[in-house]
Amino acid sequence: METKYDINNIFAKILRGEIPCDKIFENDFALAFYDINPLAPVHVLVIPKGEYISFDDFTTNASADEIIGFYQVVQTVAEKLDLLQNGYRIVSNIGKDACQEVPHYHQHILAGRNMGAVIS
Ligand code: AMP
Repeated sequence: METKYDINNIFAKILRGEIPCDKIFENDFALAFYDINPLAPVHVLVIPKGEYISFDDFTTNASADEIIGFYQVVQTVAEKLDLLQNGYRIVSNIGKDACQEVPHYHQHILAGRNMGAVIS
């Protein structure tokens, strides 16, 4: 797994406002926006504001405030998009075996249909 954060990854560019995103919510800890290639009727990405490569990097190196703040945004977005009643799936790919494409930590929020098995 990469160990040095790439400041030119696409989500870093979105955070710097260099490329646009379809924003849902933003605060000091995280930004939530729609995935450009949705795999479900609702497909949102939540990314922390800090420079973390993966879940592993984030949970090892972020402060408790950053970690709590980030996960509160995941829940806020689920609530804001009215996903609580029917449910939703959160997924994070970490490294090459999970096919992580973008090396900035992100949680996918997938919803809007029955999501089926975790791996089909
Ligand atoms: P992962 O494979 O877990 O790293 O997921 C990366 C996700 O980022 C994929 O679902 C892509 O469709 C999504 N993605 C890539 N570029 C953009 C972009 N510019 N705006 C929104 N989503 C993007």
